[in-house]
Amino acid sequence: MRAQYPISAKVYFRNEIESADGFLQTTQGCSHNRCVFCTYFKDQPFRKATIEEIEADIREMPAYFGAPKRIFLQGADGFAADYDVLMRTAELLRYREMVTRAF
Ligand code: SF4
Repeated sequence: MRAQYPISAKVYFRNEIESADGFLQTTQGCSHNRCVFCTYFKDQPFRKATIEEIEADIREMPAYFGAPKRIFLQGADGFAADYDVLMRTAELLRYREMVTRAF
C-alpha cells in the first residue's frame, strides 16, 4: 500500500511461529478505532488499499519476505477490504504461488 503511513512506520507484533510469514496491507488503520484502551491506530485514518496498490505490494513481497507459506492481511482488520478486492488478492497470491496454505 503506497500510503501516507508506510507499514515500516509502525511496530507490528509477531509471534515467533509467524516469523517466516508475510504481511500484505489490504487496509490501513482500524475501521472501528473506538476502543477506549487502544491507541494503536489513533494516528492513522482508516482506508482500503486499491487493487493496484496491492498488486504492487505483491510484486515487491519476495524481496521482503521470500516465499512465505502464509500471508497475513494487514491493517487492524485486513478483511474489511471490499469483497472483489479480497477475491482478486487471493487470485494474485495463488497465481504467483506465494502461498501454499493460506485461503
Ligand atoms: S485495533 Fe482493535 S483494539 Fe484497537 S481500536 Fe481497532 S478494534 Fe479496537
